Amino acid sequence: MNYPHPYLQPYKGKDTRHDCPSCKAKLSFTLYLDGNTHKPIHDDVGKCNRESKCGYHYTPKQYFLDNPSSLTPPLGGGGVGSKPIEPPRPIGTIPFSYVQKSASYKSNFVRFLFDYFSDSQIQSATENYALGATKNKEVIFWQIDIQGKVRTGKIMQYNPATGKRIKHESGAIDWVHNKLKQKKQLPDDFNLQQCFFGEHLLKIYPDKQVAIVESEKSAIVASCIVPDMVWLAAGNLNGLSIEKCHVLKGRNVMLYPDLGAFSKWSVKATEIQNQNICRISISTLLEDEATDTDRTNGLDIADYIISELKSKKTIPEIQSFFSPILQSMIEKNKALLVLINELNLEEI
Ligand SMILES: [Zn+2]
Repeated sequence: MNYPHPYLQPYKGKDTRHDCPSCKAKLSFTLYLDGNTHKPIHDDVGKCNRESKCGYHYTPKQYFLDNPSSLTPPLGGGGVGSKPIEPPRPIGTIPFSYVQKSASYKSNFVRFLFDYFSDSQIQSATENYALGATKNKEVIFWQIDIQGKVRTGKIMQYNPATGKRIKHESGAIDWVHNKLKQKKQLPDDFNLQQCFFGEHLLKIYPDKQVAIVESEKSAIVASCIVPDMVWLAAGNLNGLSIEKCHVLKGRNVMLYPDLGAFSKWSVKATEIQNQNICRISISTLLEDEATDTDRTNGLDIADYIISELKSKKTIPEIQSFFSPILQSMIEKNKALLVLINELNLEEI
């Protein structure tokens, strides 16, 4: 099974650079090409050259993990030269004792939350999501699946004053499974399959509505304001895959995409809807509310909530964004109204 590796498309003029699917910057995006066909793997699989401003980097490896079906031969295949279908390998899991050992409020991320939320809000969030911390005060966002099995953990550093992420120069993310592999506490062929951040809460709260956001931070911040819903994080712009969504069977789901991700997540919502997995709608809250500056900065629901809490807007101002579209969204999905009401309550 030795395939030539995918590679970043070499620069040969403007045609070889594209608009970034994340920050939308023109001609800033380099695609990965398939080592055999020399064709792009997918329009989203590549790297943005605005490393500090955007940092978007969707690797072929991650793409194939998110979309295992794109590696299997077409249906009815098995003809001459096609590769044999291998039995699926069991999903890699990490002992729960690592989650217990890491459980802590002492991350810079949780430190940031204390500027905006009450002790009891923070306690519920950290306990529900089993937040951990490292010795360096990085937060660990554990991915625990609907069966309570630990898939991996994302280790991230935040500025405790601003709540902004501090990225490695390379843009790489530290993962618990990689650290354990390095320490030989997991096998080299550990079969990582990511799940939603917060997925285990679906089992704990079977009747709650579900909301999906992009980042773990957004899920935590929103859960402090609207605890009546189960907030899941897809992990990145491309983390909303059909494979992951099977756990949403029969649920009412609202998507809250980051600014700039609306059209992409709308397409995904339709795909998920077509599979009859769950009832799904998509919030236009950020699209309706955004200023030009917000758009440049790629605002997310956490930024929005934090800025609302900072500015202590009056109720009439908040109500002024009940546009006809938003009003129809509210009628379709009470969650949005809950979000708005909760924001108002914070100001009294
Ligand atoms: Zn970009």
